Amino acid sequence: MKIGILALQGAFAEHAQMLRTLGADTFEIRQNSDLNQPVDGLVIPGGESTVQLKLLNDLDLLVPMRRMITDGMPVFGTCAGLILLSKKVDGQAYGGISTMNIQTCRNAYGRQLGSFYAESVMEGVGEKVPMPFIRAPYIQTLLSDECQTLATVEGRIVAAREGNQLVTAFHPELTNDTRVHRFFLNIVSSADSR
Ligand code: GLN
Repeated sequence: MKIGILALQGAFAEHAQMLRTLGADTFEIRQNSDLNQPVDGLVIPGGESTVQLKLLNDLDLLVPMRRMITDGMPVFGTCAGLILLSKKVDGQAYGGISTMNIQTCRNAYGRQLGSFYAESVMEGVGEKVPMPFIRAPYIQTLLSDECQTLATVEGRIVAAREGNQLVTAFHPELTNDTRVHRFFLNIVSSADSR
């Protein structure tokens, strides 16, 4: 199983390390030609969504990645990655990758308050999932019946799935708990073979 990790900015190395621990092959996506190799799933890491979005546009990665995901390629977005996958951000249509029917609040808790730690149940993953939040967004509204809430913290949606798309507002790659990544790899292995 081969996972391509967007590696323009942010916490991409931690995802690679965790996925390799689970036996997946990984490679970094830094330019358009990196998308020419066979790939079974994508990761969009946390970091700064505005910076990643500018680079995705400048490097001609935005449209091809959007098309891959629309065509069914499994994707896992964390934090800024969740923002980039949202169709709406802060109440407005968003020109990111924008493949997932969710409406997201950026920096939802205020700049400082958005960093905290929680443990909660995540459907399909288990109990007491460690959840570090760093200037975190949250999902305000699911925009389609295809979207499913997987976890909430203090009444806010912090993990969701729509088909082969998985997002978390927190950073499982910054913990020692591999269950969320294992859950994503299960989505990848059960996706239709292309
Ligand atoms: N608030 C950041 C953004 O808007 C996301 C923070 C993160 O990825 N840890 O991109």
